[in-house]
Amino acid sequence: VRTKPHLNIGTMGHVDHGKTTLTAAITKVLAEQQGGANRYVAFDRIDRAPEEIERGITINIAHVEYETPTRHYAHVDMPGHADYVKNMITGAAQLDGAVLVVSAQDGAMPQTREHVVLARRIGVEHLVVALNKADLADDEDLLDLVELEVRELLTRYGFDGDAVPVVRVSGLRALAGDPLWTQRILDLLAAVDEHVPIPPRRLDLPFLMPIENVLTITGRGTVVTGAVEQGTLAVGDAVEVVGLGPAVSTVATGLETFGKPMERAEAGDNAAILLRGVKRGEVRRGQVVCLPGSIRPHTRFRADVHILSTAEGGRRTPFAANYRPQFHFRTSDVVGVVTLADGVSVVRPGEAAELTVELGQPVAMSTGLGFAMREGRLTVAAGTVREVLD
Ligand code: GDP
Repeated sequence: VRTKPHLNIGTMGHVDHGKTTLTAAITKVLAEQQGGANRYVAFDRIDRAPEEIERGITINIAHVEYETPTRHYAHVDMPGHADYVKNMITGAAQLDGAVLVVSAQDGAMPQTREHVVLARRIGVEHLVVALNKADLADDEDLLDLVELEVRELLTRYGFDGDAVPVVRVSGLRALAGDPLWTQRILDLLAAVDEHVPIPPRRLDLPFLMPIENVLTITGRGTVVTGAVEQGTLAVGDAVEVVGLGPAVSTVATGLETFGKPMERAEAGDNAAILLRGVKRGEVRRGQVVCLPGSIRPHTRFRADVHILSTAEGGRRTPFAANYRPQFHFRTSDVVGVVTLADGVSVVRPGEAAELTVELGQPVAMSTGLGFAMREGRLTVAAGTVREVLD
């Protein structure tokens, strides 16, 4: 039985600034403090989820969980920059707050700014800054300077830069067991506990979980995993799997979170759902598991989009009608063709636009759903469904 409130957080920041090392340090420091080195997932496995190791595939989000004195956190570390931006747009509705990792040696870099901009655009309102690699700084003046620069950056992109906690840490030295830097990790977590408020949970809405992975458990059947977006689900409840093909109606015969069985999954939980009588090939990543009849698949919709500017990592050139990017809704990836509003012939990077989209495959959606548009690994736009057509 869970007694502490649950929150979802993630690390963001420029590649090599130490996101993965910091995530490892957090779990190690807490595990030691709470009396068991194996309490949390081993730190050298953070980059690779267990099923990823088993099946030799690449999953671009890794989850770890840990508890502070007052809270339970699910923490996502998203290595790989190109996927990161897409994951932030399509998955960050799940993030209640984030730790922005900035190397004290390098200061704010292009991806630091990009992630701050995206965090703002997709509604991650609460950031805490980990000024990492502080062990490499010879004097405090340098750290003061970088801190000032980061606060200015945050303020420029709509955060309250003066109020955001900035904690000087060394993930690497904490991981090595250094007591000073271990304490700084605890200070960072205290800042997260204090600064990121407990979000309202969308418990009253119909159950919905986007499928991230499908696994087969020998002798038990097909299991789908993901983060519960809204509602609650109990063992024995009827569910429907919607999108990308014919809907599948079944029953949730088992529920787990981080390898532990549970009776109920609710919004904010990372869950594994055992589906009765479903074969592995019948369900896949990109579909949603939901309360039967609560959401429908659609192929045509109107949307409001913001085309990322070149500075935000987007395109360098405009696009015209019949543009065919990929559309990422939650965990799905579907090609679509774009029609522009009457009288509009091109849309430029940095602009807002209204588009009509026809998808190659149906996706479970309703008004207000966010999505990313990509060309290969380049994220070109962040959008919201304004109206579902058919
Ligand atoms: P990520 O790409 O942001 O996940 O960065 P990593 O965690 O992979 O770290 C990138 C590099 O920086 C690695 O070589 C780490 O050993 C090093 N590093 C990470 N944190 C620290 C730190 O606090 N101090 C020092 N000196 N090096 C660090």
